[in-house]
Amino acid sequence: MGLPEPPPSGASALPPGTFDGHVVLVTGGGTGLGKAIATEFARLGADIAIASRKPEHLDAGVKAIAGLGGRVHAVACDIRDPEAISAAFDDIERVLGLPQVLVNNAAANFPVPAEDMSPNAWRTVVDITLNGTFFCAREFARRHLAEGTPGSIINVGASYAWTGGPGFAHSAAAKAGVKNMVETLAVEWGPYGIQVNGLVPGLFPHDDMTADIKGNLDRTSEKDACQPAMRVGRVRELGWAATFLASPYARFISGHTLVVDGANWQRRTLTNPPVVTVREQMGKGPFQP
Ligand code: NAP
Repeated sequence: MGLPEPPPSGASALPPGTFDGHVVLVTGGGTGLGKAIATEFARLGADIAIASRKPEHLDAGVKAIAGLGGRVHAVACDIRDPEAISAAFDDIERVLGLPQVLVNNAAANFPVPAEDMSPNAWRTVVDITLNGTFFCAREFARRHLAEGTPGSIINVGASYAWTGGPGFAHSAAAKAGVKNMVETLAVEWGPYGIQVNGLVPGLFPHDDMTADIKGNLDRTSEKDACQPAMRVGRVRELGWAATFLASPYARFISGHTLVVDGANWQRRTLTNPPVVTVREQMGKGPFQP
């Protein structure tokens, strides 16, 4: 049986217009989960800003939000570059106003045995996922501190921040940093009215997944049966969680990381299954130095 299906797309637990007059910036908001999160904010009245590198992703995000009748502005930005982030905020402020909500959703990832990981691969994933998240949060906070206005930051994480992530050493380490950052920044910026929370998706397959991640997922043929919920997440469920965390109804929640994964990360078996190395799981031969 598993956990019941959620209400249909278009439903919301929050009152209509909850984000009327608000600007919400979603990094990586043109694909996958970022697009789903942006969509739920737009349904509740927010003006949406999307920032990422590729024009085709920005166009897809604009199309999704505009299709709902929402105001949307897309800006090309590589979140590894603090100056590009500052310029993106200038552009968004000019067109829509200073965002009251920042969703740090953009990240990079691909599976690779740690011994095969190049220094460049390590640096790139950590630079985007950890450094980029901090640079965006810093820019957002500095602008709100200067204006004396409140705001809300949501950092999208991953549950291997707690457990480690075999096959994803770079991303797991970066996400552990992202989760830790939530706790530090929530305390530092609470006095200035800025909430900082984490949001951890479980398994949420979507059409925009990169070939590497999809290929990894496809190693399991039956995804639902591998989850305690007996189903994967529906992207709107993550969007609903994000809108709640940034809403007026969650103003006393800060420094928290909300996991939306049907209890998958707590999963343990009664008896340990045999260990299968990451190389074997990925169908790779013996290590070649
Ligand atoms: P995705 O579709 O691959 O999206 C990643 C987004 O990040 C893309 O829109 C990409 O846009 C943007 N991005 C990557 N590098 C960037 C950079 N340097 N500067 C600016 N933007 C950049 O991934 P997703 O599955 O939706 O995942 C979204 C978030 O959820 C990530 O933080 C991920 O770690 C987390 N997550 C997802 C799952 C899942 O099941 N899907 C599970 C756990 C955690 P451009 O290429 O245009 O830059």
